[in-house]
Amino acid sequence: MLAHYRACKERHPDHLLFYRMGDFYEMFFEDAVQAAGALDITLTRRGKVGADEVPMAGVPVKAHEAYLERLIRKGFKVAICEQVEDPSEAKKRGGKTLVRREIVRLVTPGTLTEDTLLDARRHNYLAALAEAAGEMALAWLDMSTGDFAVEPVAPPEVAACLARLDPGELLLPDRLLQRPDLFETFRDWKTALTPLPSSRFDSSNAKARLQSLYGVGTLDAFGDFGRAEHAACGAVVDYVELTQQGRLPRLAPPRRMSRGGSLAVDAATRRNLELTRTLTGERRGSLLDAIDRTVAGAGARLLAEWLSAPLTDAAAINARLDAVGWFVEGERIRTDLRAALRRCPDVERALSRLSVGRGGPRDLAAVRDALRLAAELRALLEQAADAGLAGLPDTLAAAARDLGHHAQLVDRLSRVLGPDLPLLARDGGFVASGYAAELDELRTLRDDSRRLVAELQGRYARETGVSGLKVRHNNVLGYFVETNAANAPKLQADSRFIHRQTLASAMRFGTVELGDLESRIAQAADRAMALELELFETLVKDVEARADEIARAAGALARLDVAAALGELAVEQNHVRPRIDDGLGFRIVGGRHPVVEAALTREGKPFVANDCALGEDAGRLWLVTGPNMAGKSTFLRQNALIALMAQMGAFVPAAEAEIGVVDRLFSRVGAADDLARGRSTFMVEMVEAAAILNQATERSLVILDEIGRGTATFDGLSIAWACVEHLHEANRCRALFATHYHELTSLAGRLPRLALRTMRVKEWQGDVVFLHEVAEGAADRSYGIHVGRLAGLPAAVVARAEEVLKLLESGDQGNAVARLAEDLPLFAAARKAPPKPAQPDGFAEPAASPALDALAALNPDELTPRAALDALYRLKELAGRS
Ligand code: ATP
Repeated sequence: MLAHYRACKERHPDHLLFYRMGDFYEMFFEDAVQAAGALDITLTRRGKVGADEVPMAGVPVKAHEAYLERLIRKGFKVAICEQVEDPSEAKKRGGKTLVRREIVRLVTPGTLTEDTLLDARRHNYLAALAEAAGEMALAWLDMSTGDFAVEPVAPPEVAACLARLDPGELLLPDRLLQRPDLFETFRDWKTALTPLPSSRFDSSNAKARLQSLYGVGTLDAFGDFGRAEHAACGAVVDYVELTQQGRLPRLAPPRRMSRGGSLAVDAATRRNLELTRTLTGERRGSLLDAIDRTVAGAGARLLAEWLSAPLTDAAAINARLDAVGWFVEGERIRTDLRAALRRCPDVERALSRLSVGRGGPRDLAAVRDALRLAAELRALLEQAADAGLAGLPDTLAAAARDLGHHAQLVDRLSRVLGPDLPLLARDGGFVASGYAAELDELRTLRDDSRRLVAELQGRYARETGVSGLKVRHNNVLGYFVETNAANAPKLQADSRFIHRQTLASAMRFGTVELGDLESRIAQAADRAMALELELFETLVKDVEARADEIARAAGALARLDVAAALGELAVEQNHVRPRIDDGLGFRIVGGRHPVVEAALTREGKPFVANDCALGEDAGRLWLVTGPNMAGKSTFLRQNALIALMAQMGAFVPAAEAEIGVVDRLFSRVGAADDLARGRSTFMVEMVEAAAILNQATERSLVILDEIGRGTATFDGLSIAWACVEHLHEANRCRALFATHYHELTSLAGRLPRLALRTMRVKEWQGDVVFLHEVAEGAADRSYGIHVGRLAGLPAAVVARAEEVLKLLESGDQGNAVARLAEDLPLFAAARKAPPKPAQPDGFAEPAASPALDALAALNPDELTPRAALDALYRLKELAGRS
């Protein structure tokens, strides 16, 4: 067995090998040590190789998914080696024959299908990056739903594409690992990377592979694929086949995504704007969390996909908005549809499990229920459209058509499947009674036999006079009669009872009748199980035959969920439909930040809405100044989020919104060290700023929050100054630029498309009140010290800061700094010699100084008034000198 184990392990050296032995998956050697550590399970020993004991660790088959989940999360890959024959079959070949085992599956992060291993509300993509003929392409597949797509990418775009997809696993040819320009990107995805030999990315093989997979002579029908795209798709399919050991799930033909088809958002912007996760990595607190009102897993996944890749085609965006608008108007249909969808099982994932042979009766039921629901929704939509609502918008009409007609399959599944469904087909009992006459007969026989056993027990008890006698069953003896030791002689005296076993307190017997019954029961159960499995297989085939239609219906269910959810959100949060066109305008009236607003609402505080207009007249570039804490960052971000929501096809948190399609969204907000990459805060800031200035087009939207803060004042100011000029003159993009460098406001006189805005504050009784209102004009001060006081800086520091500020603001800065510098020794001395512990009388020991020394030497009790006066003059003189 160890030899076989080793052979398996040799083929999959990078995987932990789960080796099936009875009710356990066992691991040996180094695998056992690693798994025991990762899973916190016991490490035992089994036998010896030479003088060394073999380490072993195991997990029960019944609970193995929970362990798998933990291993996958920790970055392991697992190969599962199953017993592929019944141990009794092996026995027939001879006493010591090994049970045949085979690797049936490689479990990797990108190829999961089990609900327990997946997050219902997130896609889990397997992606592949390939290069051929100087081009690159990224393909991705959600193995659990069959969704498959490919997109050409240029090397500088790879990071942004990966950030958008957030793949669970990324395949790439090992030679790409060496590319210096992608080195850092790959480092970010280190835990998801699966390098493969470059030969697996051969574009000609891939093309042939795809053609045979889809049964087509050319792939042109699916799109105009280049060699890199073929290679990427081929690598994905190849890997899935490898991990599933030859069994491919249902794969939709790859959708070809065009470059620029979605609003480009680079990785830093995505992170900074906390679109699907917060900076700390949680979903809670992200934009997605704030706007998600979907009621089913597939809808939630699609919403996340829409948010991650908003559109850039005005017509397509408007088509989505039409659907959302229809649900905003139709409260009744929205409510009914959502109530129905809440009952919708995850048919996409059920379908995919069925297609890789990991499905069970509950997956069939999921197909049945979802398709039944599809018919219900179709009727609901048709009814609502007839009921005087403006007729279905195009996308909803298409969804209604995609829901399809599946009455026959639903009927068949409904008739076959019983009410109680086990997870696995081999557990049996899932076929409804009344469906198959033979099965019913076998079951009656089985159940009758059970009744007969009970009757037999009664009869034996009566006939032998042993009332406590029991007919029992175990796996070793089968059925037997059991009695206590005291009554055993009565049975021993009866020739019908054949002795089988003596225990300390009981004796067990067999009878011919029991033997007969046993074989009848066993045969009936076996035959019933075989029949059920046969029926299960035919049903799976029926489902597979209609897999494309079912997948289409599942897609439609998800789209309906998203459209209705966005309608619900719009009504609940008072969002409006944005007007989207191909112009370059950006006019938001009464815009709000969806996440900050929600947080403030929870605290019972109001959110102050603000306008933003980046049209030609109002200024393409807004320079926003204002105190700390006044709401500049919130204002900047809310406009970026509004653009993003609008282009994903959602209504937006504003009173009015007009947006000319944005091609790329850039942000440079917040600051954090990137120590892992050896970059300081300021370096991160500059890298992000460089990306913006190099890439933003006239159609882009840029938000820049406090550029140049992490360096010396004049360096920072100069950088910020030059950035504003560059954005204005070279990029000419729509931009919001927040800054504390009030000096920049003087640029307004020279740059015609630069407009000044400020956050209003009110000074009231010596305090500052933040109004969070954006108004025309520039701020004259930042109130940073005020915020410092609010934050709890020591009073002495606040007072001193105010003094320094007054000096600095009093005119010539150079002079002021020189004066402050003269002041410095006092402080330096105080810092160097911290106050000594208090004296017993409560006073701190005074610092050394001639005046103080002289003062200490005086004894007032001995002084005449004249001497006291002299001493006072002397002290004054000494103090003046020091
Ligand atoms: P800093 O310059 O210190 O970074 P800032 O001007 O960028 O500050 P924000 O971080 O945007 O300020 O906002 C500070 C806080 O003010 C927010 O956390 C929020 O609670 C509140 N706030 C911001 N904008 C608004 C608004 N429009 N209405 C109500 N409260 C707001």
